[in-house]
Amino acid sequence: MIEDLVDASIHSKIDDLTRRVLDGGEVTREEALWLFDLESTADIFDLMAGANRLREHFKGNKIHLCSIVNAKAGACSENCSFCAQSAFHQTSSPQYGFIDPEPVGEAAEEANRNGVTALGVVAAWRGLNEGPMLDEVCERIRELAQGGKTRPDASLGIIKSQRVADRLKEAGVECYGHNLESSKRFFPKVCTTHSYEERLKTISHLKNAGIKICSGGIIGMGETREDRRDLAFALKEIGANVVPINILNPIKGTPFENNPSLPPLEILKTIACFRHILPRQEIMVAGGRTLNLRDMQCMVFTAGASALMVGNYLTTLNQPVEKDLQMLKDLGLDPNWDHHGFTDQSPSCGA
Ligand code: SF4
Repeated sequence: MIEDLVDASIHSKIDDLTRRVLDGGEVTREEALWLFDLESTADIFDLMAGANRLREHFKGNKIHLCSIVNAKAGACSENCSFCAQSAFHQTSSPQYGFIDPEPVGEAAEEANRNGVTALGVVAAWRGLNEGPMLDEVCERIRELAQGGKTRPDASLGIIKSQRVADRLKEAGVECYGHNLESSKRFFPKVCTTHSYEERLKTISHLKNAGIKICSGGIIGMGETREDRRDLAFALKEIGANVVPINILNPIKGTPFENNPSLPPLEILKTIACFRHILPRQEIMVAGGRTLNLRDMQCMVFTAGASALMVGNYLTTLNQPVEKDLQMLKDLGLDPNWDHHGFTDQSPSCGA
């Protein structure tokens, strides 16, 4: 009996927080951590029900679909601990230099066939400076934009100067993927060859250039729930338009290869917490969903997600796009989105 009373009070507190966000209010950092710390299955389902109401209220039944094309693979100078493409780790990930126009064009055709809103051109390197490589990247972006099959987005690492961001904008990049990865506190455990501040500076250059921001992170790297809460609030602060949530796929040969998997309910709860903190953003479930969520993948939408990365990821395989499209149809969700009608909430890639 006493337990019932306790459950009822948790239920009504979750409901109060959801209603406040529905009415245009915000959850505080303390309240958000309380949500992240919910443990019982019943409470997590209550939270997800609230997140689903928020998604429906702020995003309707539209689901953005994004894809990526890996334009330069492997041998990256950075040491991100989750990444198969780092030159610091011994993995079986492929390596190749910046690709020709044809594969990018083919990826755009495929994205268009699948109703994908945006195609992100992604490169595994530290970042871009002015010079011949930037010229080539801009050329590839321009070709994509002129092809009109899908919106050209990009994720090309750290940008050190405003001029580079401006050049990308001129070439046609509308949205740029640059994850904060985790909280500022946890970031040094993820990467030491560049800093969290360099990532923030890159985002600042992109925003000054008028490029929309796709920025999120990876969960399951050993971070705490407080780190996840702080990541969500940092993303709110930088004004991310799209927030990809990746779930670690521990790749053999990387420092995180033995990380234990997050339980599916913990993943769904995290998505639901992000929806309560970032009610108007596109929350996109990206890498690691097939491996970590298995048969519970369809529940990401009832947990508040409004966008999905489809097709294969940078170094790992996803389930076939047809299966994702069927899943959306079965849920009564609409994957068709006019990618030329760009709104404040934009999809992108998420390296
Ligand atoms: S995440 Fe990006 S910057 Fe980090 S090692 Fe991988 S490719 Fe390089």
